[in-house]
Amino acid sequence: MYKMYYRCNLCQELYSDSVVKSPADAINAIALLASFGSTKSLLGERSLEMKGIHRCSDGSFGLSEFIGFRYAADPVEDVEQNRPETEERVQPNEV
Ligand SMILES: [Zn+2]
Repeated sequence: MYKMYYRCNLCQELYSDSVVKSPADAINAIALLASFGSTKSLLGERSLEMKGIHRCSDGSFGLSEFIGFRYAADPVEDVEQNRPETEERVQPNEV
C-alpha cells in the first residue's frame, strides 16, 4: 500500500491520514491532485485533497500540502515503528 503524506506549512510536521492500495491508484491520484487539487470520485466515495488543515501540537492550525505517496509494505510494520522506545513493564505479581 501507499501512504499519502502531507507536510504542515506552519509546524513542518509530516503526517499521513490516508492510504491507497496500488501503484496505479497512487499515480492516478498524484496526477489528479497536481491538475485539479482533488481526486474527486476516482478512488471511491472519499476524495483525496491537495491541501488540508493540520492541528499542530501547540494547538495552532496550519495549512498542509500533499507531498507524495510513500510505499509501506505492511500495516503491522507501521504499528511497530510507532511504538514508543521505552515500553512500560507490567508486573502483575508485584504488590
Ligand atoms: Zn502543523
